[in-house]
Amino acid sequence: MLSSIYTLPEEVINLIAAGEVIDSIAAVVRELVENSLDAGATRIVVALWTQQWRVRVADNGCGMKLTDLRQAATAHSTSKIRSCDDLWKITSLGFRGEALHSLTQLANLEIMSRPALTSEGWYVRYDAGGKVLEAATAAIAPGTVVTVSDLFGNLPNYREGLPAIAQQMKAVQSTIQQIALCHPHVTWQVWQDDREWFNISAGKTSQQLLPQMLRQVRVGDLQELTVEVPNPDTSPTATRAFLNLVLGLPDRCHRHRPDWVRVAVNGRRVKLPELEQTIITATARTLPRDRYPICFLHLQVAPNHVNWNRHPAKAEIYLHHLEYWQEKVTQAIEQALRIHPETIPESLHNSRVSKLIKAAEATSGYHYNRQIQNTKVESHNSCPPTYILKAVAQVNNTYIVAEHPGGLWLVEQHIAHERVLYEQLVDNWQLVALEPSVILNALSPAQRSQLERIGIEIEPFGEQMWAIRNIPAMLQARDDCADALLELSLGGDLQTAQVAVACRSAIRNGTELTLEEMQTLLNQWQRTRNPRTCPHGRPIYLSLEESALSRFFRRHWVIGKSHGI
Ligand code: ADP
Ligand code: MG
Repeated sequence: MLSSIYTLPEEVINLIAAGEVIDSIAAVVRELVENSLDAGATRIVVALWTQQWRVRVADNGCGMKLTDLRQAATAHSTSKIRSCDDLWKITSLGFRGEALHSLTQLANLEIMSRPALTSEGWYVRYDAGGKVLEAATAAIAPGTVVTVSDLFGNLPNYREGLPAIAQQMKAVQSTIQQIALCHPHVTWQVWQDDREWFNISAGKTSQQLLPQMLRQVRVGDLQELTVEVPNPDTSPTATRAFLNLVLGLPDRCHRHRPDWVRVAVNGRRVKLPELEQTIITATARTLPRDRYPICFLHLQVAPNHVNWNRHPAKAEIYLHHLEYWQEKVTQAIEQALRIHPETIPESLHNSRVSKLIKAAEATSGYHYNRQIQNTKVESHNSCPPTYILKAVAQVNNTYIVAEHPGGLWLVEQHIAHERVLYEQLVDNWQLVALEPSVILNALSPAQRSQLERIGIEIEPFGEQMWAIRNIPAMLQARDDCADALLELSLGGDLQTAQVAVACRSAIRNGTELTLEEMQTLLNQWQRTRNPRTCPHGRPIYLSLEESALSRFFRRHWVIGKSHGI
């Protein structure tokens, strides 16, 4: 039984504080690598020696002078902030001046550094308090090499309790990948036990990095979007806010877990469940059931809108104006998924084809009415459309061959129409009176409450019979109303019901269409918010890009040569 209160010895206090920042090999890598990035490095080499519990990070950043080296590992020493005010202007990854000091408590720390534009580098070894034990000149290239060895050597029990090395290395890899995604202009080389482990090449944007981490994903499977957005408050802050999004196209790639729904703020991956949920919601109904998007979202916000002091590892933050960002993210995802000239390669906006298409569009009326009257044509979208697809032919009464300036698409008519109708239903779910009412029999209590849940009015109509008084507008004119209502009674939420209605109402495959009808469908479909997949997540079109066609037909061959003339 503990009966008295004692003040802890300083040594213990220091160890506890150090352990909050540095709790694993991956945390060492994170802190050292973030220092390299703060130093402006564009090339970072990480080497790990697992037996020795040693980590070395070498960079080509700005380096440190000897006076800085003497100061760097003492408690709370940082070059990044000076006053309280600065805490709200943080643009660097580090600011607490804790990492190097903590490392001296938990490991042996050595640094070699040479500032750019100087001819002299220094080697420094530190003691457990961060004081310099030894300093000597060293011949190195400009930049910094930090070596941490015998990590947790003075805490054998702690070391014992850590996960197996293989698992720790996995954590190191994912730490580096996350940081790399946030800083795509940096080239990485990672070594393990004197063997090259993996590399990450620099790219213009994170779109070029993601496929290096997810091998089955190719650059073309991703849509990238960077938009500048107004700062959410009116305070006169000079910083501009940006939203960068790399999104897996739903017809090309998705995951069975939400493990690649990732958010970063100002250069660091963070856990922001609210924004992750926004991403999942915005891509729902474009993916198959129980699949999740691949999405990397990076926000650059005014530094005073982030509070990093929610967690020592800075993985959890408070982000101001969260709702504003949720709205912007939803809009950006919608924009990224749409079909518009910018997302089609090699588009020639002013080409003859687009003029032809515009002319065709002007004369076409919407009257294919074999299945259902379509009343809500293109009402949800107020901006004038840029139609880029031209209907050319129908194949097997199932696929529409569509031409655009960059090549050819095959569009499956049923699911393209299903996508159109589904979005119309979501935007305008209307129930209309059913005259005369439809009589259904043998509805179970569950079926009845399901129908009531989506707004259908039901009245008992005698023994085991019910009269249905209203119906979704789109189903009104059908002669299979009863079947449709039974289908709706079988379960699911309103969205599921909307999907079912859209599917039932959409034009069937096997239906012959005129060119005009095809064109109208293409026009409507191009303007949907999520044209790539149907609400069940099936791809809607197959694209044959002109560049691929030209490669296939060897158009680069010089004819004379290839004929041996
Ligand atoms: P913080 O990053 O919070 O400032 P650290 O303990 O991680 O604290 O680093 C202390 C200081 O040492 C930094 O502020 C920086 O000036 C310097 N420093 C650390 N690593 C490097 C590096 N790789 N290149 C240049 N300077 C560095
Ligand atoms: Mg740091």
